[in-house]
Amino acid sequence: MYTIDLSGQVALITGSSRGIGAVIAKRLAAAGASVGINYRSSAADADVTIDEIRAAGGEALRVPGDVSDEGAAEAVVKTTADRLGRLDILVNNAGINRDRLVMRMNAADWDDVLAVNLRGTFLSTRFAIPLMLRQRYGRVVNVSSVVGLSGNPGQANYAASKAGQIGMTKAVAREVGSRNITVNAVAPGFIAVGGDGGMTASMTTEQRAQVLSNIPVGRFGTADDVASAVLYLASPDAGYINGQVLTIDGGLTA
Ligand code: NAP
Repeated sequence: MYTIDLSGQVALITGSSRGIGAVIAKRLAAAGASVGINYRSSAADADVTIDEIRAAGGEALRVPGDVSDEGAAEAVVKTTADRLGRLDILVNNAGINRDRLVMRMNAADWDDVLAVNLRGTFLSTRFAIPLMLRQRYGRVVNVSSVVGLSGNPGQANYAASKAGQIGMTKAVAREVGSRNITVNAVAPGFIAVGGDGGMTASMTTEQRAQVLSNIPVGRFGTADDVASAVLYLASPDAGYINGQVLTIDGGLTA
């Protein structure tokens, strides 16, 4: 049986109190990694995620902080490494959206989304890389989106931030590849997240049918579909994959 063993490794997953990030954290913890659970304000959700990881025998550390804030991002990375002993894996998952057609989009809508999704990815990476360089080992996985590859009406800010993450992934992969650190991105498509189905739950029946007709595998994705890919890219087994974008969309953009 093929299993991924992350025993003795430490992972920080930004935005892991709930949604896709929480599922990624649980999968990495189940593979043996000690995990840092980061979020900005959803402490109750983090409680649930941390309790679940501990109940399953894993180790989870609470590291709240706004990743778009330089001081907070530095503290989140350093606290994780100090308290858990090292830092092998960084998953940049924290993300927000403020959707509007571009002609109605405020500068604040643009700035907020770019700040969390792109500046947050930069800051966490910037503080994690020196630790990984010292260890001569690291895995960075950026959670982008198919919207960063193909765009989507009403999401100019979000698409720009997700495309920016991809450019950054490729640049940093070239900077640190020689030191046994890889940097990759995943680009999920339509993912039904959590109990309410997330973004897909707000669609009308007609919209759902229309979207599903364009997904060759015939279903929306799950957070586990994303977590499986992140787990692999974050593992030692993926050491020769660097600077890549793995699309997880059931064939939507094939
Ligand atoms: P979600 O359920 O809204 O969860 C977002 C997480 O990020 C929460 O833990 C949130 O915690 C945290 N967060 C937000 N701003 C933060 C900040 N400034 N600092 C630290 N943490 C912050 O989102 P999701 O749907 O799981 O999406 C996760 C990632 O996948 C995002 O990057 C998203 O763009 C990407 N993605 C999602 C889909 C989808 O269909 N859901 C598709 C493609 C890509 P707080 O609420 O406490 O801030």
